[in-house]
Order: sequence, then C-alpha cells, then structure tokens
Amino acid sequence: MKKNLIYGLYVTLFISVLFVIFSLPVLRQIIFAFELKSFDFRQNIHTKAQNVSPDITILAIDDNSLEILKDKYGAWPWDRIAYVEAIDFLEKAGAKQIVLDLMFVNKSDEPTSDKKLINSIKKNQNVYAAMNLDDISSIEHPPIPKHLEADVTNNGSVQFPVYKNYRPILSELINETKNIGMINCQRDFDGISRGTPSFVGYKNNLYPYLGLKAAADYLNIKEFKITKENDLILNGKKYQLQPNGYMILNWYNNSFNSVPFWQMKKNPSVFKDKIVFIGVTANSMYDIKSTPISSNVAGIELQSTLFNNILDNNIIKRTSSFTTWLIAVLLGILIGIFTLNSNTAFASLSLFGATLGSYWLITLILMDYSNLWIDTTFTSLALVLTFIVSYVIKYKNKSKDFDYTYKLATTDSMTGLYNHRFFQEQMTFQIENAKRYNGKFSLILIDIDFFKKFNDTYGHQAGDAVLKQVAELLKKSVRTSDIVARYGGEEMAIILPNNDFDHAVIAADKICKKIASTPFQLNAKVTTNVTISLGVSTFPDNGETPQELIEYSDKGLYAAKENGRNQVGRI
Ligand code: GH3
Ligand code: MG
Ligand code: MG
Repeated sequence: MKKNLIYGLYVTLFISVLFVIFSLPVLRQIIFAFELKSFDFRQNIHTKAQNVSPDITILAIDDNSLEILKDKYGAWPWDRIAYVEAIDFLEKAGAKQIVLDLMFVNKSDEPTSDKKLINSIKKNQNVYAAMNLDDISSIEHPPIPKHLEADVTNNGSVQFPVYKNYRPILSELINETKNIGMINCQRDFDGISRGTPSFVGYKNNLYPYLGLKAAADYLNIKEFKITKENDLILNGKKYQLQPNGYMILNWYNNSFNSVPFWQMKKNPSVFKDKIVFIGVTANSMYDIKSTPISSNVAGIELQSTLFNNILDNNIIKRTSSFTTWLIAVLLGILIGIFTLNSNTAFASLSLFGATLGSYWLITLILMDYSNLWIDTTFTSLALVLTFIVSYVIKYKNKSKDFDYTYKLATTDSMTGLYNHRFFQEQMTFQIENAKRYNGKFSLILIDIDFFKKFNDTYGHQAGDAVLKQVAELLKKSVRTSDIVARYGGEEMAIILPNNDFDHAVIAADKICKKIASTPFQLNAKVTTNVTISLGVSTFPDNGETPQELIEYSDKGLYAAKENGRNQVGRI
C-alpha cells in the first residue's frame, strides 16, 4: 500500500514535469497540431443521430443559379435587383430573418438598383448585410457609424482581433441600417476554420460577427456580457470564448435545408418562419473554407452554423489545461500502479489499452453529447510514457529480485564467498569441462591454523572478523576466473580452472605467504597474525571425481599440519 502511494506520487511528479516540458512553445505547437486533428476526428464521428436544422434554410447562389439567372441578372456580380426580389419574396413567404452573406461594395452601374436594395433592407427590420474589416492601411476610411458598434462588457481576458481598416460598403447602407455584421474569417494555423470570431475590433470599438449579430437580434439581446471565465452570456446561457474571441463551432447536426436561388419561387412554404441565409456556394467563386468536416464549405455555412449553434446552445467548450493535467495524472496513477503490480505483461498491456481506449471513447461521447472538447493528445502521450516507464521499472525490479535470490542461493552470507553447494556444483562442472576439452584444473583446500585456540583466546566474534578478512584476502589473491568458496567452518576451497599441479602449488604458496604476512584487525586496538595450511590436487592427475580430488587435497592439508602448519602440504 505504502509502495503504491509513493509510486502514485512519482507518477504525479513525472506527468507534471512532462506537462511543463510540453508547455514550451515549440512542443506545445506540435501537441496542439495533433490535438486539432483529434478534434476534427471527433467532429466527423457521430454517435448520435443527426438532424436537419428546423430553424434555418439556406438560399444558395450555386453554380446552376449563376448559369441560369445570367440572362436575368447579368454576369456576376448580379444586378442588385436580384436581392430586392428575393427579399420581397421571402418577406411574403413569412421568413423570420433574411441574412445576406454578401458585401455591397461599389456603386452599381444602375443607380436605381442600389437605391431599391437600400430601401428594401431599410424597410424590413429583419434583413442583414455583411461587411469586412481588413488591414489595408494605404487608404484611411472614416469611422464606422456608432450604431454598428456592439455594446460589450468584457470582464474576462479575451483579446479580440483588431483591424486597421475596413472595406466600405454602400454608405447609405452603413449609415441607415443597424443590421450589418462582420464576416472576417479566422483560421487556425493549419488553415482550417474551426470556429468564427464573436466580435472584431476597429478603432477601440467592437463589431459583431454577422451570424452572432443576427442571432442576438433574433433572441432580442441588446448588450453583451463576458464573464471572468471568458463566457459570453446570451439569454442567460454561457458560450465559451477562446482567448482570441473565437467561438469554436460544433459541426454536429450541421445539416441545413438548402434551396438553389434559381428555384426559390418553386415552394414558398420552405421559407415560412425560417431564418434564411443567402450566400454564394458556387464552387467557381472564391468563398470556400476548410472546416473539420470538409475542405469545401461555403462561408455562408460558417454563418448559419454559428447561428444554429447559438440557438441550440452547443458551441464547443474546451476544457482547461488544468483539467488535462488532472486527467493525465489520475489515469497515469491507475496505469502506473497496475503495471507495477500486475503479474503478466499481457495484463498490464490490456489495462493500458483499455484505459486509453475508454478515455478516447469518453472524449468522443462527451463531445457529441455535451459539446466538450477534452484534450486527448497530451493525455495519450503522458499515459504511453507512464506505461513504458512503469514497465521498465517493473522489469528492472524483477531482475534485481532475481539477482538477489541467486546470490542468496549461491553465497555464504558471512564471508560473501560461494557456499558449499555451489562449490560442489562447480566441481562437477569443472570435471565435465576438463574432460570435454582434455584440460586440467586444480583444487586448493585451506584450513586456518589453531583457530579453536584463537576463538578461545579472543572470542568467537574476533574469530568471525578474522574469517571474513581471510576470505576477502583470498578473493583478492586469485584471478577473477578462480572460484573461492567456504567449504565449511574455517575451511575454504579454491578452484583454479585451467591450472596444472605446479602452477596451483605456486598459487597456494603465494596465498600462504600473503596471509602470514598480513596483520589482521581484531578491533580498533589489537592486530594479530594468522596462518593457514593448504593442500593441492589436480584433475585428472590426482583424481577423477570430486570426492577423490577433495580427499587428495585433504591429505596434502593434513601433511601441512603435520609438518608444522603455515605451508602447502606435500604428499
Ligand atoms: P588446526 O590448526 O589443527 O586446524 O587447529 P584448529 O583449532 O583450527 O582445529 P580445527 O580446524 O579442527 O578447529 C576448527 C575450529 O574453528 C572450531 C571452531 O571453534 C572454529 N570455527 C569453525 N567455524 C567457525 C566460525 O564460523 N566462526 C568462528 N569464530 N570459529 C569457527
Ligand atoms: Mg578445521
Ligand atoms: Mg583449523
């Protein structure tokens, strides 16, 4: 339990560090690029039924209309009589609002058409036309009439895009109607429009986006309030604004009844009680935008989708980066602790996959049903890394456990030398090896002299200390390929692979002298000298089984004792 708690804290720290690293500008941009694609993917997957907007109808100036009405209204741009006729017809058909996604810039060759259009728009309170702010600074235009400004109280931190100039439309239009909205397009850095501006700025004033202007009038909203949390309040409902004033559109349910302009009069009833958007959808015209659902969407659809999103209250709400961090931490802890404790790689991989899969599914459903954009990119990255790191840690721990168990089974805990069992295994192994390659190996048996007396004089603990130091010295005195083991009690054995008898005796002599000349530390004050006796045997000369070899060495050892100790015995 405590181990899990500590690991949970490590995961939290790990993900927080990742979070900070991926907040660095370049990395954040990369993550954001992926996140935008993840958003588009979700916008294109529908888990609930789509329906056609019951409130909006699009009157589309499509390629056919341009062709068919060429005789009547001329080549594009049409004689403005076309819109006068459309407004008259739609008013009679019972349209609630008529939104012209069209800019009437230069004066017509036929001044009466302009006059008629201006009168028609002025006469009907529910008709809207478009205008565009821009940054062309060479020509200064007069201020935009005050009645077109939006009354916005910004209590949040939204920074609306500000433009230096605007493209003037017929002066009678901007001077005599309030029903003008902006159609400035805003794109993400990958060129895709995922939303629209809410307001755009010019000379310290804000002007509403066309779709927002029409929707606000439709809902009878006169002033706009933005909360501290950057939510725009419309009719008591909250609509999240992005830091740049962007409203992220929800392209679900983005289906509209569309009537080609040339077929307008065929069925007047389709316009009854509808908001009618009039705009160019012709592919031959320039007004084509890329959106999450298609790379070929007419600008009019951005306007109508915004209007529809406002009516349905389903503007996308993106969760905060704190939420992203929190989700990554919680799921990371789950995956990390499970991976650390699971018995099989399959189990940990399954949980990891299931967690990530469920998370994606939930983000998909939440976007569809709750209009929530929960970030998946950072979370997925953090979970993958947490899983990999946890798995590596677990694997390392496992191999450490294995090393520890192996050491426990093969060594003597007091001296750190190999134990008797390992010694016996090695004897068998060395014999087999030497037989196969026609080689030799030697065995030295060692016994400390007068150790009983030593214990009696200095105590058992001092005896242990000496035993450890002798063991240490033996290990240092031989090659790394030699095997030093504690045979039992104060007796030790050394296996010397590939050594014949003469070389083994030389090695044994060297060891004997080394021990005899080394002062042994009993405690802080007292040092003493210790001697050993040794016996040597060699395979296959002195025996062909472990027993025979041990016996032979033992005989040598006995001879050394008989002969006065502190020497290598000879038979
Ligand atoms: P010798 O020179 O003939 O070998 O005399 P010795 O006293 O060493 O006789 P022997 O080898 O028969 O005695 C072994 C003694 O070593 C018995 C025991 O008190 C001591 N001994 C064996 N194992 C340990 C140990 O792990 N720690 C300590 N302190 N003493 C041990
Ligand atoms: Mg002994
Ligand atoms: Mg002894």
